[in-house]
Amino acid sequence: MSEASELPKYLTPLPDFVQLSSRIWRILGLNPGLFTLQGTNCYLVGSGDRLILIDCGEGGIPEYIPLLQQSLQKISSNAYISDLLITHCHTDHWGGVKDVLGMDNCINVHKFPTVPTAFDGGRFEKIFPSDVKLLPLHDGQLIKIDESTTLRAIHAPGHSSDDCSFWLEEEQALFAGDCVLGYGTTSFDDVSTYINSLEQLKALDPKVLYPGHGPVVEDAIGKIQEYIDLRVQRENEILQVILSDPSTPWTAYKVTESLWKDKRPAQDIRDIHLRGIALHLKKLGEDGKLRKLDSVDSTLEERVVLNPWSKPEVIKSVWIYTGESNSKL
Ligand SMILES: [Zn+2]
Repeated sequence: MSEASELPKYLTPLPDFVQLSSRIWRILGLNPGLFTLQGTNCYLVGSGDRLILIDCGEGGIPEYIPLLQQSLQKISSNAYISDLLITHCHTDHWGGVKDVLGMDNCINVHKFPTVPTAFDGGRFEKIFPSDVKLLPLHDGQLIKIDESTTLRAIHAPGHSSDDCSFWLEEEQALFAGDCVLGYGTTSFDDVSTYINSLEQLKALDPKVLYPGHGPVVEDAIGKIQEYIDLRVQRENEILQVILSDPSTPWTAYKVTESLWKDKRPAQDIRDIHLRGIALHLKKLGEDGKLRKLDSVDSTLEERVVLNPWSKPEVIKSVWIYTGESNSKL
């Protein structure tokens, strides 16, 4: 998702180009905004002239390709990009693909396939340029860049169905896409899948985490745990709200209103909260704690702006407390 605008005032500016380790450089996508933070982080990785680019910004930003070219020159006069790895289907991570291929059409483009049944399944295929050949990544795939640089693709769905993180073996460093951000929290498509992916990434014991947006996360384990704890905490808060009146049907909107109380956030944030709460209710349904009723929340559309990534049937569902549970959470 993206909303190109100015850098939000609460964020610290990041340099457009910076070296982060002996093998890693970060180039900003120059698309700051509410959801993209300081802009999409694009990383160049390698210890020789051959470099791999992880994500390529959202496209349509004239200054991006000159910045990328100047960055390559600063790394080495012979530096070139052999491959582009796209972390996931959201346009702010791949929209610049044609611009990058315009720089060098020999660059191979890789991405984990989207899952057609997923939340935004089908949308990516409709909008990704049909003349760009996408090589499918698979979970565990090794990408050997040079003698001392190897990346491993890790399918870590939950933020989106196709989210891939990349593990830099030699530095025990994790490129986390939008699974974990350098500031605030991120959106998700499925709570259980997302928590499982966070646990999987935590088990790697990363020394440092390079997020899809925001600054480098030095305390990688602490940040991943914070994200897991936040989901558990949110689920407990939702259950507390429902248990305040367990015999009444609950909708995502009703739960969200209760949680906000007097502090109603701005509309954009409000819709994302609502979507998150709806997905938590779906998980509580999967866990057996709630049961979905046949009715739908028909008042919803008058009250909220349904964004393209809001799946109406998830958000409109009506739930009732069962008093049972098959969850380990
Ligand atoms: Zn994303």
